Amino acid sequence: MNVCDSGMLGSTLSTYGASQVNSLSDADVVILNTCSVREQAEQKAFSYLGRVEEFKQQNPFIKIVVIGCMAERLGQKIKKRFNNIDLIIGAREIDNAALKIINLCSMSDVSKKDQPDIKSEIIRYVSIMRGCDNYCSYCVVPFVRGREKSLDYKTILNECSLMVKNGAKEIMLLGQNVNSYQYENMNFASLIKKVAAIENLERIRFMTNHPKDLNDDLINIMATNPKVCSHIHLPMQSASDKILKAMNRKYTYERYLGLINKLRITIPDVSITTDIIVGFPYETEKDFEDTLNAVKSIRFGGLYVFRYSPRPNTRAADMIDNVPLEEKKRRHAIILEESNKISIEIVSKMVGSTQQVLIEKIENDVIEARTRSGRKVFVECGKEYELGKQINVNIKEAKINLLFGGII
Ligand code: SF4
Repeated sequence: MNVCDSGMLGSTLSTYGASQVNSLSDADVVILNTCSVREQAEQKAFSYLGRVEEFKQQNPFIKIVVIGCMAERLGQKIKKRFNNIDLIIGAREIDNAALKIINLCSMSDVSKKDQPDIKSEIIRYVSIMRGCDNYCSYCVVPFVRGREKSLDYKTILNECSLMVKNGAKEIMLLGQNVNSYQYENMNFASLIKKVAAIENLERIRFMTNHPKDLNDDLINIMATNPKVCSHIHLPMQSASDKILKAMNRKYTYERYLGLINKLRITIPDVSITTDIIVGFPYETEKDFEDTLNAVKSIRFGGLYVFRYSPRPNTRAADMIDNVPLEEKKRRHAIILEESNKISIEIVSKMVGSTQQVLIEKIENDVIEARTRSGRKVFVECGKEYELGKQINVNIKEAKINLLFGGII
């Protein structure tokens, strides 16, 4: 989401003649887009700000702007700690950020361009909604990004078309809960259908999904529209109904499992990935075992596992964080080990198979591409290949998160 927001901001600023540079010494303004989902992300931002402030002492003309979720949550605190910050713009104000930065830097619109510099990248991200209404008890997002709001589908389609004209072959539609997208009569499945109709667009991905809102319309369009990739990220978080309830996830493990079965029956080659939190307040060994058994039996295509830590303002922050850190680490390591084992088994079975991949990068005669299920593949190529082309490859070797193949 932040990569997408930063890209949009960069595009708007480019119409005023701004361009992205790669080192502080070349910059007139530093814009730090922040994340609050985990404490570690906030600590990283604080330490980066410390470095930029030091730089500003020697280079007083540089402007520092902090935007995003951390700016929303800790704006005053950031101002107090770092006196030299010029502008703080919270996540809810992100759509007005460009204008504020233009004013701060006195950018002139004398030679304003009609169109922003659209990066000609093969894969582009497009936000289709803002905020979240779900209030999962561990999550800070609704407090920093505000209430859920679906964006106008006409704007989304224009943005996608422009990206495709500039070379994009794959578009990833983004939202905290894309399944609840609704703008006038347009739901998420109908939006996907419209995006898929864009000529020269090869692939569509989307994230993230909430099991409580995943419906048949979406599953069917995944099964029938060849442009929609057969990958879905469906965060499970826990397989214990007691913990799911305490997390305010609004589904049971049985409902989650029902969705997995439906996805696998309707889309036989679907890859399902997930998120898991271990060590949530009052997670017993039995609750953890339930989650571990679910991981073993569902056999996800991949998963992210997080150790629970309380986030300010959330309901879970009022609960007693009673699973000791050592125990959280142990549970985290067990899930990770199991997941790695399953991943190796899944990718090993792909050896010998033919996969359609989209070329994302070519360097030193090696193609970097991705399968429809989202796995990265490296392919040695002797002749010229075009970025953004879909080709068939034969998988020759597999590692946990990497495949190696040859061109057919
Ligand atoms: S669905 Fe839950 S976890 Fe996801 S952003 Fe919303 S509140 Fe957070």
